Amino acid sequence: MELIDKEQTKKMLLDIDSHVKSHGVYLGTYFDGVKAGYQSAAACLDTLPVVEERKHGYWIEHPEHPVGDCSICGERVPIYSGSKKYKICPYCGAIMDGETND
Ligand SMILES: [Zn+2]
Repeated sequence: MELIDKEQTKKMLLDIDSHVKSHGVYLGTYFDGVKAGYQSAAACLDTLPVVEERKHGYWIEHPEHPVGDCSICGERVPIYSGSKKYKICPYCGAIMDGETND
């Protein structure tokens, strides 16, 4: 699945819509239909489900043990696989890249 930004997509559709011009009496109805299509597509975006954005966190490590506490949910987890640290919390799914969501 590829996620796209709903607001950006809506803005793009409405930008295209704003550039569709009527071309006189004979084609006016056709271009009105084209405009209505773009407006309808933009309105449909509001009916789509919201996929929850993943939180970003970091491991609060304990030097004496190979475990860490998730900065998001607080669960204590064995964080090493060989010499590599896990990049996702198995409890809450947070991406452990040290960034914050703000
Ligand atoms: Zn977690």
